[in-house]
Amino acid sequence: MYKHHSHIILSLLLIAGLGFSSYAQKPRGKEKRIAKKVEDHIEYLASDELAGRGTGSEGEQLSAKYIAAEFEKIGLSPKGEDGYFQHLDITTLRIAQDQSSLMVSKQVYTLFKEFYPLSISADNGDYKGLAINVKSGIKDDHLKYNDYENVNVAGKAVMISMETPEMNNPHSKFAAYAGIAERVKIAIDMGAKAVIFYSSNADLFPSGDLKKTDNIVGIPVYFVKKDLSELKSPEVDLTVQIMALSAQASNVLGYVDNGAEYTVVVGAHHDHLGYGENGGSLAPESGQIHNGADDNASGVAAVIELARIVKSKSKWFGNNNYLFIAFTGEELGLVGSKYFVSNPTIPLEKINYMINMDMVGKLDSTEKVLLINGVGTSPAWQGALDKASHKKKKIADVRTTESGLGASDHTSFYLSDIPAVHFFTGQHSHYHKPSDDPEIVNYGGEAFVIVYICKWMEIMDDQGKVEFTKTKDESPGRMSFKVTLGIMPDYIFDGEGLRVDGVKADNPGEAAGLKKGDIIISMNGKPILDIHDYMEHLAACEPGQEVPITVKRGEEIIDLTVKF
Ligand SMILES: [Zn+2]
Repeated sequence: MYKHHSHIILSLLLIAGLGFSSYAQKPRGKEKRIAKKVEDHIEYLASDELAGRGTGSEGEQLSAKYIAAEFEKIGLSPKGEDGYFQHLDITTLRIAQDQSSLMVSKQVYTLFKEFYPLSISADNGDYKGLAINVKSGIKDDHLKYNDYENVNVAGKAVMISMETPEMNNPHSKFAAYAGIAERVKIAIDMGAKAVIFYSSNADLFPSGDLKKTDNIVGIPVYFVKKDLSELKSPEVDLTVQIMALSAQASNVLGYVDNGAEYTVVVGAHHDHLGYGENGGSLAPESGQIHNGADDNASGVAAVIELARIVKSKSKWFGNNNYLFIAFTGEELGLVGSKYFVSNPTIPLEKINYMINMDMVGKLDSTEKVLLINGVGTSPAWQGALDKASHKKKKIADVRTTESGLGASDHTSFYLSDIPAVHFFTGQHSHYHKPSDDPEIVNYGGEAFVIVYICKWMEIMDDQGKVEFTKTKDESPGRMSFKVTLGIMPDYIFDGEGLRVDGVKADNPGEAAGLKKGDIIISMNGKPILDIHDYMEHLAACEPGQEVPITVKRGEEIIDLTVKF
């Protein structure tokens, strides 16, 4: 009986515990009402019915419809091209067709077996005529290096070896040219009509994956598994035909028109990973629904509840108009927000600033630390930071980073010279896994975060047009990584070093003995003070290299060796 009794008590405790974890922090009054609304939104958006809201999927379209209906209920006016919607076509699949052909110097090559199109290639195109061999195809005035010297390739095809000068030197000044994209760009600038990369060294064979979101160029780009360096200017005849399937995806836009000159954008992405089939998943083999409760049903819920407040309290928010946007395609590379800034439904120069919420549902109920990225993008943010109060028992600490560049939609606005910040409650072990479910969300904590963001917006509302400042960023594309440690950095940690928030299975970090909680303090003999040092030194590491790292584990200092 007792046992049975104990079972009941145990399960009651568990349910209470669970109840307690979803409401890890107990909101009252207004915040309690907000938390309940947030819960309703997340329960629906992260339900199995929406199947992980993969971009262009039925679940994503259901999500878009739900958000538009909420915007309508609140009384926002439609600000898309199709009512509340801004539709965009997303390529969902690209497959090279048998009609794709290649002949070089009268030799016909076999598709896939001997040659294949590269992801950057145009989907359709052909070329017949001379191809000029330009060795590594590098032209860099800064480095005083030019493989196009004394050759005119305008209107012709070019042949480029995968090999680059000083290839075995990790610190080579040519490192930026190791990839494909830079050299294709140069060839196009030189007037080339097609590009044929070649190599017989299997270590240098580029991926044949035809990515759906690559910025494809306007000309055919092929790779041949053969050393063609002997051929100086052969006759070539090629056709590329890639079938690209696309589906419709949607940004959702609702507007509060206060008749003001400038508009504030408040946004969050509503797409997620579906079944993990489109990349980005940390459990791709699971084939399960990635419900994306924290990433980013939580952000969408925050957009809807902030819209409700702004609409109802126009006297606090009367100096700007407000545009609430749920972006699609974020997980595919900020596709929806990039699309919006290149197809804005209000003039870009009339956007005052942008607030992005991506993962605001996991405020740690012990540490209660909120992170705000991008505060260097306007001097005005400091004012909001100083004035916006927060009760310690709700949000214990607010930490900030400067850079406008980050892994979410605020970056698209920053790159359009619009001040933009990203509110974030931090990484966690459910990130990009099927277990990112409604049960893990701290609804009370999210309500506190929403009220805090609301204060920011109130303070910012009477600042007029705020100034934009460029931040010290790692220039995009300069930091390319050839290896990974397979860890998740702790973005919240503000001590010296890089704190490890998660260690991915079957990766060099795990093999080296790294553990969650370790603080990396040196790498390859160089001190690691923060995530930037870590990224800089990781970018210099090469496949196969053995690198000593030192970590702090509790009070212990441990030396480990990573084999990349
Ligand atoms: Zn996200």
